[in-house]
Amino acid sequence: MTGRPTIGIIALQGDFAAHRRAFSRAGAETRLVSSPDGLAAADALVIPGGESTTMTLLGYENGLWPAVREAARAGMPVMGTCAGIIMLARALHQEPAKITPLKLLDITLARNAYGSQVDSFEQSVRLRLNGEERTVPGMFIRAPAIIRMEPPTEAVGWLGDEIVAARKGNVLGLTFHPELAPDLTILRHFIALASR
Ligand code: GLN
Repeated sequence: MTGRPTIGIIALQGDFAAHRRAFSRAGAETRLVSSPDGLAAADALVIPGGESTTMTLLGYENGLWPAVREAARAGMPVMGTCAGIIMLARALHQEPAKITPLKLLDITLARNAYGSQVDSFEQSVRLRLNGEERTVPGMFIRAPAIIRMEPPTEAVGWLGDEIVAARKGNVLGLTFHPELAPDLTILRHFIALASR
């Protein structure tokens, strides 16, 4: 790839506009993707936060989710944040079948895991990216929790001793919202993955 990578941002529902602004600030070209056709023009793909039930519905209706799964398996870098990591999971804890995740990360998630009262908070997250430790602000909004993880999926981010970021090869999932914090560490890391 030459020049700036184009980050495709899934725009079915949710906070895709915030991702678009943040990735622009971090120096990437962006493109909103809402159907399988849009995928071809992207070097990498972001699945934003939102409501995973609605996202499931809209993206299976038009064939987007199977196309995303295929692109990820073919090596396209994919990053899911909050509802986005729910879409990447292998399984969900005690959920009716209305959410069909893509099984791209070997994790089981519990949705809305931080309770209904204190369902949003900001706290520091410890990251290990490319062997380097960093601390970044983590915005958690009705966030899911990773309650089980298996190799080859590995932990790359922690809130205390809880895993909040997981990676398997080209697929990265975060239970929080990096696009809502001023720190661009994670977005730049993802742009670098997309530039390879
Ligand atoms: N609670 C939402 C869900 O389960 C996710 C919240 C978010 O993306 N900020 O889909």
